Amino acid sequence: MEKIIVSKTTIKALQNGKQLLVESDLNQVANQLESLANQAVILIDGSGNYLANAYLSTQNKGVGWVYSTRSESFDLALLIERFKEARALRQDFFTNEATTAFCLFNEEGDKLGGIRVELYQQFAVFSWYNTFVYEHRLMIINAFRQVFPEIIGGYGKNRFKACSIESEHLFGQAEENPVVIKENGINYATSLNDGLMTGIFLDQREVRARLAAGLARGKSLLNLFSYTAAFSVAAASGGASQTTSVDLAKRSIDKSLAHFALNGLDMTNHRLVVMDTFEYFKYAKRKSLRYDVIVIDPPSFARNKGKVFSVHKNYGDLIAGALNILNDNGIIIASTNAQNLTITAFEKILRGALSDVDYRFKSTFRLPRDFRYNVKNPESNYLKVFVIEVKK
Ligand code: SAH
Repeated sequence: MEKIIVSKTTIKALQNGKQLLVESDLNQVANQLESLANQAVILIDGSGNYLANAYLSTQNKGVGWVYSTRSESFDLALLIERFKEARALRQDFFTNEATTAFCLFNEEGDKLGGIRVELYQQFAVFSWYNTFVYEHRLMIINAFRQVFPEIIGGYGKNRFKACSIESEHLFGQAEENPVVIKENGINYATSLNDGLMTGIFLDQREVRARLAAGLARGKSLLNLFSYTAAFSVAAASGGASQTTSVDLAKRSIDKSLAHFALNGLDMTNHRLVVMDTFEYFKYAKRKSLRYDVIVIDPPSFARNKGKVFSVHKNYGDLIAGALNILNDNGIIIASTNAQNLTITAFEKILRGALSDVDYRFKSTFRLPRDFRYNVKNPESNYLKVFVIEVKK
């Protein structure tokens, strides 16, 4: 294995729990990076002392991951140990019959960056974030199946640039029909082999739980960037008097309808709208539509008709648009999964956009416990959701 000398700054960062390697950590081998790509390496200090095992592979953030500081090779034994540890930390999830989908293994939170595995009923969905883990998938799956023998089949999502296939069947049984999962007793239909997304974002479970527990009981709810309307279905199950789900993508309609139907909710008081969120703000204003609760959960970055939406630049506009159509004493649920936006910066954007109204931050949601993150790297705790009461 190639040995790479790292700088004093990197040594310090490694001692502080750094796992994600960026280009500046590898200055000494800048000209060799190409030949070292997708290989396991050993990081050493200037005197040749062992610091860490890492693998180098480019992904959307960083150029590699430290996977051990105990001089271990990237082999079946290491992977089995990592999966066993991950399983032990989630033991209680396996016995909860009301929730049959959750995260089994989460990247650096489970001490192996670049891989996430989620459980959907009896199936596993692997996300590969770089070529290295993808190239090692057979060994990784082998280890995984030894630790999770009850899982009957697996799919893979290829979340790295070099790959042209987004989704594929990996092992065991295949299920091309929707797999119905339960979350706090509510049913959701998921498609495990249809593009990168499955039909539900499992990391929002606690927010949906709050809605299902009655946060919007007797209230009208507007769900912006609704995708498959999961927040609306949770709110409807928790007694919301009406919901409106808005998404740009037509494909969201059938999937949203299926979610309502699966829970025996008829559509009389529930609307699905295919529209750009900013257009909807204008439309609702024109029609004097108003809502008691508005959920805002945009993608970190999106393009529509040449216009670019970024959480950093445009979240304030979303709040302003929502305030225009929010009833007195309404609630805004503001969410982002943008990794490069700190919770402090997000809060600042929100407070800036709310400066003309009387408001109170009521509660905050971060990643649920099964989505483990690296406590030494706050960025890896990417989900930030604020529930805000607005007086007006
Ligand atoms: N809130 C959803 C997840 C949102 S995923 C949930 O909890 O399940 C992001 C969604 O935003 C996608 O479905 C995409 O079609 C939609 N989208 C992107 N740009 C949009 C826009 N300008 N207006 C409305 N929807 C948009």
